[in-house]
Amino acid sequence: MTFSIHGLAVARGIAIGRAVLVASSRVDVAHYFITPEQVSSEIRRVAQARDAVVKEVRALQQSMSKDAPAEIAAVLEVHIMLLEDELLAEGIKHWIGERLYNAEWALTSQLEVVARQFDEMEDPYLRERKADLEQVVERVLRHMKGLPSTLPTNKAAKPGSARQQDLLLEDQVDVPLVLVAHDLSPADMIQFKQSVFAGFVTDVGGKTSHTAIVARSLDIPAVVGARSASQWVRQDDWVIIDGDQGVMIVDPSAIILAEYEFKRRQADVERERLTRLRHTPAMSLDGQKVELLANIELPEDSNQALAVGAVGVGLFRSEFLFMGHDGKLPNEEEQYNAYLAAVHGMKGLPVTIRTVDIGADKPLDRSQKEDHYLNPALGLRAIRWSLADPEMFLTQLRAILRASAHGQVHLLIPMLAHFKEIRQTLSLLEQAKRDLDNRGQAYGPLKLGAMIEIPAAALSMPLFLKYFDFVSIGTNDLIQYTLAIDRADESVAHLYDPLHPAVLRLIADAIEACNRAGKGVSVCGEMAGDPSLTKLLLGLGLRSFSMHPTQILSVKQEILRADISKLSDWAHRVMDAEEPAKVIDAH
Ligand code: PEP
Ligand code: MG
Repeated sequence: MTFSIHGLAVARGIAIGRAVLVASSRVDVAHYFITPEQVSSEIRRVAQARDAVVKEVRALQQSMSKDAPAEIAAVLEVHIMLLEDELLAEGIKHWIGERLYNAEWALTSQLEVVARQFDEMEDPYLRERKADLEQVVERVLRHMKGLPSTLPTNKAAKPGSARQQDLLLEDQVDVPLVLVAHDLSPADMIQFKQSVFAGFVTDVGGKTSHTAIVARSLDIPAVVGARSASQWVRQDDWVIIDGDQGVMIVDPSAIILAEYEFKRRQADVERERLTRLRHTPAMSLDGQKVELLANIELPEDSNQALAVGAVGVGLFRSEFLFMGHDGKLPNEEEQYNAYLAAVHGMKGLPVTIRTVDIGADKPLDRSQKEDHYLNPALGLRAIRWSLADPEMFLTQLRAILRASAHGQVHLLIPMLAHFKEIRQTLSLLEQAKRDLDNRGQAYGPLKLGAMIEIPAAALSMPLFLKYFDFVSIGTNDLIQYTLAIDRADESVAHLYDPLHPAVLRLIADAIEACNRAGKGVSVCGEMAGDPSLTKLLLGLGLRSFSMHPTQILSVKQEILRADISKLSDWAHRVMDAEEPAKVIDAH
């Protein structure tokens, strides 16, 4: 039966494919296709890991003293039964043999199928066995990764057995796959850069949550904040993701499918048309030049930035180098190499490296998220996090300084609000230079920029203009903090409004202050990449935009069609209106 689930549109386009349900805790499992020749070795790999875990559990059983609680012995027995269950083994063989999934992916796919069956059981005891199943699968996965296994901690009472069912699904190898998960962290998303997924849907997340931002950079259709999508969709269902409307259609009828196939082809044609603008200079109808820069997460994104004609990197979110390494920070050499790769990748064009912005919805790893999720957006993040750990910050500053010896590097500091933060940052930068002088290591001249992301900063422009060479307006956070809306929380997403007059006033005044002082100003939040806002920002005096490479050509198209000399009065009327969105729509 066809049904649709509504969420928030975050990355445009249409994806049509089979659903792959992934529990967020297992997202860092690799997903790739194997060759038919690898099928038997992959099946063997899972079987060996499973046998090893069975052996471990048996050893544990035997080592237990006679007076250990009977419940523990029962739990271990359940785990062995689940591990040896035919349903699990047969399903895994199916995913590997018929779909050519790698071993870990096959294991987690089958876990989702079996777990769903447990959910549907009427007997509460059997339903609860799902947790045991998840634990044993986790152990097998850890084994395959070469990590130490963990002991079972479940408090189960009696052993039970899973119901056998025929789970084998219609076999097709080359259909696109769409990922459906409750939640994905930004670090998980980064893993999808080379993945096989054609689109994704999550239950949680706001439009400018960092997960959504990374999705946009991947240029695959995505919907977030779809509430309970991961509970309604089943493994392998056919789904359509409409990333423009923020809708997922499950089990579409033939007519709906045909309609979306048509839309998808049209979008491809439009995309193809836009690529012709790649080498066209970004100049308005009245001859004003506009700078279009790229936001990147990893050094290799510079390829994509160059491919769409970006004239530099306006925001390298360096925190992505720090995430997903189980909390271990990259050392100076590793960071230096990454920054250098971005500098070389941009072939002489400027690269703006932002110091680490960890915290809020960008935890270093999952444990940090759990410990730290009290009030993350207002907590220890970005420059606050860096200043709280001067050694870590100095390491990053030295790495960036060293990279600046090899090209045009700009240093950008996130989330400043207080003079004392500016003072401490400048003093640590001087210290980092002294460290390099003492070591005899070179560094180049480097422009220093501040992000304007907190209303307090936007209202203190003279201070920022005194100490910094340029500013970059981070509208994602500026909106969050001006309107008191957690950008990652889908329940208040309807109030997250880039066109709120107060937000526009802060942006306009910051741009004007910089233009008056002759200092560079750019917008690097999601507003910069939204073509429906390009003319407004031009009218407010902005001439430098930084966005995902995937958005550059659409924004350029808007610039090529704009007569900037006529936009200023209109933009100020928009800003002064009670409902700016209506004035924009009427334009
Ligand atoms: C912003 O806040 O607008 C910004 C660009 O930084 P981030 O999205 O990484 O917080
Ligand atoms: Mg920000």
